[in-house]
Amino acid sequence: MFHLLLVARSGPARLLGPPPYLPELEELWSPWALLLCLTWLGLQAALYLLPARKVAEGQELKDKSRLSYPINGFQALVLTALLVGLGVLAGLPLSALPEMLLPLAFAATLIAFIFSLLLYLKALVAPASALAPGGNSGNPIYDFFLGRELNPRICSFDFKYFCELRPGLIGWVLINLALLMQEAELRGSPSLAMWLVNGFQLLYVGDALWHEEAVLTTMDIIHDGFGFMLAFGDLAWVPFTYSLQAQFLLYHPEPLGLPLASVICLINAVGYYIFRGANSQKNAFRKNPSDPRVAATGRRLLVSGWWGMVRHPNYLGDLIMALAWSLPCGVSHLLPYFYLLYFTALLVHREARDEQQCLRKYGLAWHAYCRRVPYRIVPYIY
Ligand code: NDP
Repeated sequence: MFHLLLVARSGPARLLGPPPYLPELEELWSPWALLLCLTWLGLQAALYLLPARKVAEGQELKDKSRLSYPINGFQALVLTALLVGLGVLAGLPLSALPEMLLPLAFAATLIAFIFSLLLYLKALVAPASALAPGGNSGNPIYDFFLGRELNPRICSFDFKYFCELRPGLIGWVLINLALLMQEAELRGSPSLAMWLVNGFQLLYVGDALWHEEAVLTTMDIIHDGFGFMLAFGDLAWVPFTYSLQAQFLLYHPEPLGLPLASVICLINAVGYYIFRGANSQKNAFRKNPSDPRVAATGRRLLVSGWWGMVRHPNYLGDLIMALAWSLPCGVSHLLPYFYLLYFTALLVHREARDEQQCLRKYGLAWHAYCRRVPYRIVPYIY
């Protein structure tokens, strides 16, 4: 993450080369950055605690109980936008944020580390039924990394659910916006490429928060414990590396004509169409497996629509969108394509983990599904 942050602002912007220099501790550590990160977390926690338009129930747990989750993530996004807008009108220097990315990333990493340590200690006194299937090997480093407790909570405040979609995702679009504003200050107006990257990624984050309830059926919530992997991923990795394209564009402006911009918009729209269509189809099916619009195998598996084309159509849509986010940065550098490369590796690995879980859960029905839908993510390729 630090390598990417350093390289993005360097002239050659070489993903695979050594970092341009090794920062001194004074460049990484700033009490102001720590204070800013903690204030941000405090603000998002306060918004989480506001009355929600809906309270959803999670999947059934080992002890047959279900947890409740407030559905107010989109509301948190809108309220944050309002607060930031008012702040900017009142003189908040948002465009100074890009200069602080290094110490902010350092502070977020420190917070994720200490937070995971506390989560590990909390899990030592948690009942066995609260532990995650993985992350309880007895090896402290492994368990610290993967996370021991499945749903660590204090009263009704669910730490994993809170971190999954709010501070990191909303922080990501805020960093993007700050980069856009700094570009406007530097060059008179934001470039078309910067608008596209901001717009595409805002759509992605807005969509995730609008469909917040869907996160309750994802692997992160159902299977994975909450440890360093997710805490660091949610709080540091997502905001500081997913904003890499906007960071790159600030230091390496890329002229983009309208015809090419239209093609890139079309690619993003196709990706989004598949991604949203697939996720909505699965959600509709989970709510009502006898819905006449979807066909299923005997044991609750969709075999029609997007899910009849490949076994993870939502990953396919996500990858097409990842390509559209990189293309506005041109093809002169590999760096803006880092997300696409990393995300491909992440989804291939995630898909393999999910197949194992589905095989355990659905047995022969999963075999039948795999025969009927032989491709995993990309039709006729993978
Ligand atoms: P999914 O939402 O695809 O969930 C997988 C689960 O779906 C399976 O375990 C199974 O669970 C169910 N399922 C699989 N096949 C079928 C079928 N044919 N019919 C019905 N149910 C089926 O995966 P993820 O949790 O990995 O991802 C959720 C979303 O988040 C995706 O769109 C992904 O692209 C995105 N994502 C984005 C990331 C990012 O960093 N940008 C990172 C990770 C994910 P069950 O049977 O128990 O319902």
